[in-house]
Amino acid sequence: MTKIKLNDMLTFYDKENLTIATVCSHSSLQIFNGAKKEGFKTLGIAIGEKKRYYDAFPLGKPDEFFIVENYKDILKYTKELKEKNTIIIPHGSFVEYLGANNFLKLDIPTFGNREVLLWESDRGKEREWLEGAGLTMPEEIKNPKDIDIPVIVKYHGAKGGKGFFIAKTYEEFLKRIKKDKPYTIQEFVMGTRYYLHYFYSPIQENAYKLSKGSLQLLSMDRRDETTIDEVQRLGSIAELEEIGIHPTFVVTGNIPIVMRESLLSKVFEMGASVVEKSLDLFGGIIGSFCLETVVTEDLEFKVFEISARIVAGTNPYIFGSPYSELIQPDMSTGRRIAQEIKYAAKKGLLNKILS
Ligand code: AMP
Repeated sequence: MTKIKLNDMLTFYDKENLTIATVCSHSSLQIFNGAKKEGFKTLGIAIGEKKRYYDAFPLGKPDEFFIVENYKDILKYTKELKEKNTIIIPHGSFVEYLGANNFLKLDIPTFGNREVLLWESDRGKEREWLEGAGLTMPEEIKNPKDIDIPVIVKYHGAKGGKGFFIAKTYEEFLKRIKKDKPYTIQEFVMGTRYYLHYFYSPIQENAYKLSKGSLQLLSMDRRDETTIDEVQRLGSIAELEEIGIHPTFVVTGNIPIVMRESLLSKVFEMGASVVEKSLDLFGGIIGSFCLETVVTEDLEFKVFEISARIVAGTNPYIFGSPYSELIQPDMSTGRRIAQEIKYAAKKGLLNKILS
């Protein structure tokens, strides 16, 4: 949506009566809980039917459900949603299932800069952005014949790491690859994984200062991935592979974590340069984003991915994390998003944080 269209839309919005909406999945309980704490009305877009489990979580249940047949149908109801002064909070499932093109043309004010999708969903552009920001990414192996270190093979657009596999030689690669799907081969980085949850505000100066606005670190997690994370209960990976059992990388949950404090300077430097580069490239990433990293034994970060919106790894922190507690008690990422919208609405700056 263009800035002009967004501004037009916002002139008709009742800024004191905004509704925060998202699709009922992923991090929606947290988003609704955070929005309620900040006094917003909440609307849960439910696909097919209202999920019964929301009744069991009254503090995370939206005030109202909006039932649509499927994700694409959301596009048909933009008039009704706008009449409720709706602001959409996109999360990973929302964007994935609606589809990138539909998301880009969705005619409802949406938190964050949607242009980021063009940089995040194309692996080449993602690398241009992150390496351009001075971050170290895992080496990319262009020709599978050159595999002489452990690598991870990733299919483009694969949901939750599905189908990814590890290979140590060209022969192993050939045995497993599905050639009909586009893929990338990356050095498998040895180390420990940290998924860093940042929040960038282009309109507030009260945190780690950048050329424009400021940056916060709200939390971090480690993903729990089946079967790789527990496969060793049955035997070593090498042993299992010999009998045709291969580990998989499907995300099933998230584990809270903190990092040794001496690494925090680097965490902020990385987050800051990713934001500064995004300002140069496409007008800036806005709000929550996550750098997915591996820390090596030399205490170096290798960043293998960026998610440019709220990630499900923030869900363990509905009542705050050891980092967000040092900013404000009881603040989840969902609540931080609601606070940003509240602040922007009060100051007449909504068009700086929505697209
Ligand atoms: P992704 O879809 O890129 O987030 O990758 C799914 C999972 O694969 C991650 O959560 C990691 O556990 C693992 N992974 C991805 N890239 C690498 C890498 N270069 N080295 C080691 N593990 C990786």
